[in-house]
Amino acid sequence: MVTEADGGQDKGDALGLKPLVRDVPDFPQAGILFRDITPLLGNGQALRTAVDALARAYPNIDSVVGIESRGFILGAPVAYALGVGLVLVRKLGRLPRATVRADYALEYGANTVEMHTDAILPGERVLIIDDVLATGGTAAAAAELVERLGGEVAGIAVLIELVGLRGREKLADYPVTSLLKYE
Ligand code: AMP
Repeated sequence: MVTEADGGQDKGDALGLKPLVRDVPDFPQAGILFRDITPLLGNGQALRTAVDALARAYPNIDSVVGIESRGFILGAPVAYALGVGLVLVRKLGRLPRATVRADYALEYGANTVEMHTDAILPGERVLIIDDVLATGGTAAAAAELVERLGGEVAGIAVLIELVGLRGREKLADYPVTSLLKYE
């Protein structure tokens, strides 16, 4: 367990990991409060705590989907812990073979993500992993790709949920788990 020196805990941080997330104002652009998880990734005990908690949330799955790029960092050890394979959801143009694509809106502009068409078999139960749930558009696009290949989204698990952006509402059809909550 990682705890602040004063022993303080907030209720959105049952695992005591928040002291290892750094708030970076105006990154990558003005008005964004970036949640930097690199200190958490750099702490072996905290990384294990986070990965174990994400893996515990949905034990009965057939594969993990990691969303580029920080979702890969967390998705790979979760897949390893559960003894299942890792499927990549990547930004447009980075996967070499036939893909399915999903477009989604960003606050300014749009984005496209892809998955190999043979990455998920019909009926597979899939856990989607990312670092941060903000508006939910990215995770919803990943869920759409899973379902277009006939998979079932067993759950969506993230390290950080930015509760005020109400991404959970966009994902109302799925169980969503977050380890750290910010208003
Ligand atoms: P969204 O589609 O709005 O839920 O955004 C989620 C994606 O954007 C995740 O893959 C995050 O890595 C990234 N992201 C969004 N907002 C932040 C933030 N404030 N700090 C760090 N990453 C963020």
